[in-house]
Amino acid sequence: MTSSSAQALVEPRLATVRARVARACEEVDRSPATVLIIGVTKTHPPALGRAAVACGLIDLGENRVQELLVKQPAVAGARWHLVGSLQRNKVRDVVGKQVLVHSLDRRRLADALSRRASELGSVQRALIQVNVADDPAKGGCPVDETLDLIAYARELPHLAVEGLMTIPPLPAPDEDPSEAAREHFARLRGLRDQARSQFPEVIHLSMGMSDDLEAAVAEGATMIRVGTALFGPRGRGPWQGQEEHR
Ligand SMILES: *Cc1c(COP(=O)(O)O)cnc(C)c1O
Repeated sequence: MTSSSAQALVEPRLATVRARVARACEEVDRSPATVLIIGVTKTHPPALGRAAVACGLIDLGENRVQELLVKQPAVAGARWHLVGSLQRNKVRDVVGKQVLVHSLDRRRLADALSRRASELGSVQRALIQVNVADDPAKGGCPVDETLDLIAYARELPHLAVEGLMTIPPLPAPDEDPSEAAREHFARLRGLRDQARSQFPEVIHLSMGMSDDLEAAVAEGATMIRVGTALFGPRGRGPWQGQEEHR
């Protein structure tokens, strides 16, 4: 993929996504500047990440650590987000790389992140991933344990908990994805409001993807994670770093 063909692909899609965000913001009287769009580049080659940055979309996300590590040095000027689950044995690969971790969901992971950040003299930023629907198929902290996890994690000296993240359950085939997700987003927002009244640094709501970003914006998302609507259908597996035509 040449850099101009990558940009020709991303630019109009980004305009469309920005217009969707602007319209959703208008409905609820929010400024679009309060919604950070994260371009999820998983399975796509770094050329698409570079095209996003060239179009002014500098926040990029990956769901696998390995893929993030390959793309981070290949895409200059991006700010990276890890939106997929994190195993403790990968903590070393992530801490110190200026990555916002969206998937902190248990105490032992919090301990590992803070311990590694302490070795590096840094502070790891994280969002708590919440399993809003208590869906056994999904990761994340159970709703009724979330406040305790925040209270625990924020006491760790090298960890900064800045908000909450969720992935709602898949909608039924006959449901409108945005409508179906809305109650889950509302629940995350309620939990954030509750947390924030005790812990003022718990601000962010990372929620909303290509099919349901309107509902997320309506419910107060401060970060939306958009893949398909920006970069097209995903490839079969993680991008492996095979030859890249430029
Ligand atoms: C892949 C992914 C996204 C993007 O999903 P789309 O529906 O393609 O926009 C968002 N969040 C997470 C956690 C993901 O893994």
